[in-house]
Amino acid sequence: MYLLKALLIIQLLLGTSCREQPENDLASSGIDHAGSKKELLEFDRENGFAHDIQLTEIELRIEKELSSLRANFLKVNGGQAFFNKPFQKVIQTVEESRLFRLIQNMPKGGLLHCHSGGITDISWLITQARNLPECFVFTLKGHTDFVYGQLAIFNQGEQPKGFIQLDEKFETDKNFENELFGLLTLQEPAQNTDIDIWEEFEKRFLRISRLVAYRPFFKAYYERAFLDLIEDNIYHVEIRFILEELYDLDTSYPIEITLKDLEEVTTNIQKEFPEFSLSIIYTSFKFFDVNTIDEQLKTAYDLKKKYPDLISGFDLVAEEARGNSISYFDKSWAKMEAFTEQYGFELPLLLHAGESRSTGNENLYDAILLNTKRIGHGLNLSYYPSLTKKVVQENILVELSPLSNKILGYVPDLGNHPARVLMSRGVQCSISSDDPSVFGYKGLSYDFFMAYIAWELNLKEIKKLVFNSIEHANLTNNRKKSAMQNLTEAWDEFVSEFAIELEDKDF
Ligand SMILES: [Zn+2]
Repeated sequence: MYLLKALLIIQLLLGTSCREQPENDLASSGIDHAGSKKELLEFDRENGFAHDIQLTEIELRIEKELSSLRANFLKVNGGQAFFNKPFQKVIQTVEESRLFRLIQNMPKGGLLHCHSGGITDISWLITQARNLPECFVFTLKGHTDFVYGQLAIFNQGEQPKGFIQLDEKFETDKNFENELFGLLTLQEPAQNTDIDIWEEFEKRFLRISRLVAYRPFFKAYYERAFLDLIEDNIYHVEIRFILEELYDLDTSYPIEITLKDLEEVTTNIQKEFPEFSLSIIYTSFKFFDVNTIDEQLKTAYDLKKKYPDLISGFDLVAEEARGNSISYFDKSWAKMEAFTEQYGFELPLLLHAGESRSTGNENLYDAILLNTKRIGHGLNLSYYPSLTKKVVQENILVELSPLSNKILGYVPDLGNHPARVLMSRGVQCSISSDDPSVFGYKGLSYDFFMAYIAWELNLKEIKKLVFNSIEHANLTNNRKKSAMQNLTEAWDEFVSEFAIELEDKDF
């Protein structure tokens, strides 16, 4: 038994990477607490969120290579200072690195946290919008009804004052295409700025909302998003969806059509990529009143009844510092039990909570006591030991979105992201990208890359983050089983290909 334990300790010491002390330090330090230190290190490793992952010999070799690529990358690019730079300033450096290309090739499972209107490449959107003769852009500033750069659809001649046909605007103002890109994406402001980042953030969604709700454009928008995810090796996506009526130049359509269209887009994608799946989390706003949320909950139950596999849960969004708290809607939450009985199924909550650095923000208490299935962000969870314990015990997943947290100013230095505390205390996490198109990128590779270098992750932890995204996905049992099988196969293939690359390199 003792021998087994000793072997395990040696294996653990050999199997981890840059965070640990070199063995020699412990053996030759001559200090008398070396044994206790070993025990404490072992305790921490055994309680981390990825403790159950065992790496194979090949994976250990890959980990070594990744670690060395990371060390070189940081050496060449300013070390820790790299994390403090605005993301847009480092994106090209990231893209040019071998480490990033490897992360792009890595299967990433599912994207569990993103938002409608925030996932499709903005350069693609601008090109497509330009090809629509009916697409106009608002060109006045300081107007009460529209914002500068807002896109909308009109019959020629019926557009309100201030709107110019988009292609015409591009033809007459050669700088406008670049300007529009800046108006539709959010640049991370320098620190200590007085820019209201959430106001700017919300304007990005507003500027494209009429275009995305235009039914002939809507399907193409989501088809592009799903294909881009697949290209980034992501085969499941869950979208916090603000379900709105679609329209065309003749009429508007009920929100059921929105779901029908999404289902159709997914079915078409599945013809080529049968393992791809979509799940919709019905989402409303924290700044609404209780009556409105009551109605929206009922609508969500109605829709889930008609689309049981597509609609997977309910959430509320908006800036936590300004929107209503979760407990503000207690009367609405209290009605869910009766709804569940009436409809004969549950509508799980998947709440955004703790997207805040405030110790006075109690949303996490309420979200967890309301049995949220997962937590969106959970940045201030580490302030609350009781909740952290509960989250571990109840296996609630925290959906981390590192770049979103940095760009929106919650964690300006990614090296100090609270995720590191949570993961070390055994909280299960996954990686998401929240609103990648608004932040000027697509997919999940950028978030994985930044997390990998800023949080000093090892391959066990990366693997756990990836597999958690399917383990905690809203999928039926059968679908989850096959998604897990596909992911395992894709991971093994990634490892084999990487190993061949390493062998070639060694020769
Ligand atoms: Zn979010």
